[in-house]
Amino acid sequence: MKARILVFCCALLLANGTDAEKISLIGATVINPADGKVLPNATVVISGDKIERVAMGKQDAAALGEQISCAGKFVLPGYIDTHIHFFQSADLFTRPDGADLNSVRPYKDEVAWIKSHLEDVFARYIRCGITSVVDVGGPMWNFEVRKKANTTEKAPRVPVAGPLISSVSREKLDLGDPPIVKIDTPDQAREFVRKLAGQKPDLVKIWYIVDKDHPVDSFRPIARATIDESHGHKIRVAVHATELETARAAVEEGADILVHSVIDKPIDDAFVKLLKDRHTILCPTLVVFERYGRTFSHQLNLTPEEKAWGNPEVIASLDVTKIPQEKLPQRIKDALADPKAAMDRINKTYEVALPNLKKLEDAGVTIAAGTDAGNIGTIHGPALFREFQLMKQAGLTPMQILQCATANAAKLFGGDTGAHIGKIENGYFADLVILNSSPLDDIAHASDIATVIKNGVVYPADSILH
Ligand SMILES: [Zn+2]
Repeated sequence: MKARILVFCCALLLANGTDAEKISLIGATVINPADGKVLPNATVVISGDKIERVAMGKQDAAALGEQISCAGKFVLPGYIDTHIHFFQSADLFTRPDGADLNSVRPYKDEVAWIKSHLEDVFARYIRCGITSVVDVGGPMWNFEVRKKANTTEKAPRVPVAGPLISSVSREKLDLGDPPIVKIDTPDQAREFVRKLAGQKPDLVKIWYIVDKDHPVDSFRPIARATIDESHGHKIRVAVHATELETARAAVEEGADILVHSVIDKPIDDAFVKLLKDRHTILCPTLVVFERYGRTFSHQLNLTPEEKAWGNPEVIASLDVTKIPQEKLPQRIKDALADPKAAMDRINKTYEVALPNLKKLEDAGVTIAAGTDAGNIGTIHGPALFREFQLMKQAGLTPMQILQCATANAAKLFGGDTGAHIGKIENGYFADLVILNSSPLDDIAHASDIATVIKNGVVYPADSILH
């Protein structure tokens, strides 16, 4: 009850533009994955939207403001999902280029639904303790999403990339403001980056797709021009490159971020050294690799967190058996006819991707946690907890996973905000998760959330989605 009153007071104070009050979290175990330090029986003093100080032992009550007892609880920096797409809902109709279900739900209706449910999605991230997300690509209206998120109280902090620069086009996603733009020459790439720069993107994204018609080297000069022009505008470049040779080419050309794992073969020592030398950040997005195949073959493994905190309409749509047989696209028919083949493909991907992640982590490459939420079956918000399970399966320790989702993720977030999130330190934003049980004992406890604090505003977890 006390916390509810606090929410009201903070809102009132912020609305009046006066100095926000002081709040102190008393007696918690503070976990700071940035340096791996664990402070028992600590006090975190929050003043307005910032962490004022973290102290041990008994404190002078007069300097603590409103006190919230956190005895037996665990305080962490808010989680950061560094790979999501707000222009996709995660429902079955969100990627007609992958599974065309326009005859069931026209894509324009899907996009209208997405635009009208942004505040719902924002709140679901907060419910999951995710106080910042990185949108790595979408239509030009992504820039409006950034503005909306960053002016909405119950929303994560959001940097965005604009449309993806690619070797291929996706006509079915083009309603006049396409999320993916086919670029054919280096000059076109430079021109497009200059146009994007007017919107002040936080990142430029390249969709480096390789197949028999698009070999690695044919797109390489375009990747080079995109990266060079972006860096000229002081914008970092994130690249989708899931094959070893594509990823290597991207990093050699100066990519700052790889947005997925390498999934076609084991990475070699030269690749690991390249990422270390260039300080490239890699975001594994393990969960998305299972979700298309599992959804289409009717073997979806949504976690309890996803079922509880995902959007119910999105989740209900994912049952492909509800779609009339004659309206199913061939890809889904094939998956339903041979579910074992779908699982075999997923397992084969993980047999490569999980050891690759472990090798990069052991070598000290900066890994930032991310899910690719918004893709079919990858649920905005709680998908991050499935990602944690897969990172654990790869052999990462709970502290390593938490570091990937906080301090490392803040590096990928970037900019002035990125320099003030992801750690529990003086002067950092008061974006915190308070857990009932220790995530260091079991990373599954990362979702045992009692309270979320975003920008100094306290939200009892159970109140967020009601
Ligand atoms: Zn993505």
